[in-house]
Amino acid sequence: MAGLAHGAASDVAAQRRPAAARPGEVPAAYALIREADIKRDLYAMAGDAMRGREAGTPDEMRASIWVAEQLRAIGVKPVGDDGSYFQWFNMIRTRVSTVSTTAMLGGAPLDVWKDFIPLGQSSADVTGAVVWVPNAADTTLDVRGKVVATPLLAPNPSSIRTTTNSPEVRYTQAAIAATQSRFARRGAAGLMLVADATADQAFDALAVLRVRGTYDVDRAAQRFATQPTRAEMPVPARQAGTPAVLVRGSLAGKLQQAPQLALHIRLERFETPSTNIVGVIPGTDPVLSKEFVLYSSHQDHDGVRYVIAGDSVWAGADDNGTGSVALLASARAFAKQRAKRSILFVYHGAEERGLLGSRYHAAHPVVPLANIVAVLNGEMMGRNHPDTASLLGIQPPHRNSSDLVTMALRANALTGKFVLDSLWDRPSHPEGWYFRSDHVPYARLNVPAVMYTTNLHDDYHTPRDKPDRIDYPKLTRMTQWMYLTGWFVANAPKRPSIDPGFKLER
Ligand SMILES: [Zn+2]
Repeated sequence: MAGLAHGAASDVAAQRRPAAARPGEVPAAYALIREADIKRDLYAMAGDAMRGREAGTPDEMRASIWVAEQLRAIGVKPVGDDGSYFQWFNMIRTRVSTVSTTAMLGGAPLDVWKDFIPLGQSSADVTGAVVWVPNAADTTLDVRGKVVATPLLAPNPSSIRTTTNSPEVRYTQAAIAATQSRFARRGAAGLMLVADATADQAFDALAVLRVRGTYDVDRAAQRFATQPTRAEMPVPARQAGTPAVLVRGSLAGKLQQAPQLALHIRLERFETPSTNIVGVIPGTDPVLSKEFVLYSSHQDHDGVRYVIAGDSVWAGADDNGTGSVALLASARAFAKQRAKRSILFVYHGAEERGLLGSRYHAAHPVVPLANIVAVLNGEMMGRNHPDTASLLGIQPPHRNSSDLVTMALRANALTGKFVLDSLWDRPSHPEGWYFRSDHVPYARLNVPAVMYTTNLHDDYHTPRDKPDRIDYPKLTRMTQWMYLTGWFVANAPKRPSIDPGFKLER
């Protein structure tokens, strides 16, 4: 959060001038966006009872039903499957099979996830006598065809991530990467990385993360993937690189005695449901009501994981309880005072598993895609300094509609009056923040799209992301900003155009 806009500098200057609303510019229903509602909803949605709303679990289903019931109470019309608020889709999961993965070391069995953690995502068979390499940094040894055991190398501090997970897990992930890289292309048959004291502390947590495997969604939605997709590939018979596992530090003594290893890693792949939640407030204009302003959030988060500071519920209050309750507040205002165009609310499921819900809905929209005039995505909107926020998609190469950006900046001047930190919207930003939320699949399809956010913080993707850490006055202003932007778009005589030549590429 260092520094302010450059690319959008003139816009920032403009929004600092006090703006007075023109008569009729701000609808009366604006007053219905109330901090008390937002706070009540967020405590419900991100309370510990929701258990972190993990995709593909009953916890995500429970949260989804809760959201649907709020929409029903507000008067939003269901447009999902079978007259419901739900658009079901299957996630395709690939993971190491706990049942079928086995290991014997020196004649004694090892338990997957308890004694060792597979570090790849493919089946593997590794057998032979273990060769102890005391220092992984010594790359002069010929390890070709050998089963190698070696202590983890301490990572370069600059390679350790600064957000997500506990410090021990971040350290261990960086140490694994640093150590594995020393064996790249040296032809070892297998690699056993021995945990140091910190990695031993992180061992159970890492197992909790790795046991989940990877997630994907159907073929039609795969073209929106922001990273390589696995679901269309057969389960690989053999790993491309050297099969590797992390083992407990307590096994170091045994591994130095050249024991025989017989390791058999097996993958499993299966489908399991998640859901988008979809509802509409119809517009009032006979023609324009066939067009839709899409308000976007995601209802899922990371579920119950490992304990940090005595807490295992990764509650996702900011991520993305805030965007979710902002949509409810906006729906209350639109239901009371309808716009000319229709408003489509989409809560995307399984966002945390790789934007699965938004990729699915972009491929299978509940209204014709050509009739979606803009996507306003709210994602993490209640933290950091009260006066700053980001609007992603505001500057090239991410900006795809100057019309939409102009309306959003006008709305900011009349509501939150945030100073916009444009660093997060740049392709050079180390977090690649623009590409990490649900507006992306729509932007790829040339739908005008922006994302409202107050950016990352130290509690991101940890159990500390709780409702009591949210800045509610700020979240209310963010909600007002999103709402008023949508009001402008929904009532504009002409829908926002796509900037000429726009093509989203990472
Ligand atoms: Zn999120």
